[in-house]
Amino acid sequence: MTTSASVPTGSGGAIRADGTVTDRLVEANEQYAAAFSDPGMDARPVLRVAVVACMDARLDLHAALGLELGDCHTIRNAGGVVTDDVIRSLTISQRRLGTRSIVLIHHTGCGLETITEDFREELEQEVGQRPAWAVEAFRDVDQDVRQSMQRVRTSPFLLHSDDVRGFVFDVRTGLLREVDPA
Ligand SMILES: [Zn+2]
Repeated sequence: MTTSASVPTGSGGAIRADGTVTDRLVEANEQYAAAFSDPGMDARPVLRVAVVACMDARLDLHAALGLELGDCHTIRNAGGVVTDDVIRSLTISQRRLGTRSIVLIHHTGCGLETITEDFREELEQEVGQRPAWAVEAFRDVDQDVRQSMQRVRTSPFLLHSDDVRGFVFDVRTGLLREVDPA
């Protein structure tokens, strides 16, 4: 292989025959770091916003929302649902790192629409132990965004729940659609 500063193969590129996908990421990081200069930021998000979104690979949050390095906290999980652990992160975000606004983003074609809470039973049958967590599966994405907004608004731990908005990202068009909280 060449040792010159070639650009990583990027999305859609095959994993190198002589390495794992993680090797490829580490290699990309070396090039990232070579061009990186310390922006001199502290840890508080510039826009004082936390974004909670699904982990879906088709959702590029920074590109889709015009975000720059340092602008926001991003908290992601399967579904972008507001679990206790998301509340934990939001609480630290607001109380220690100064964020005030919360943006919730679900999306079209989410994997959580295709499974049910039976997933926990299946796991129990396979491994002999039922997970403590809920699958948080849903059928109506708008309703799940509303439920997430409600969980944020009713959390006793958060300082700021006046600017909470929820959206559905369309993976085909790239557009956000706001969900009426009512
Ligand atoms: Zn999803």
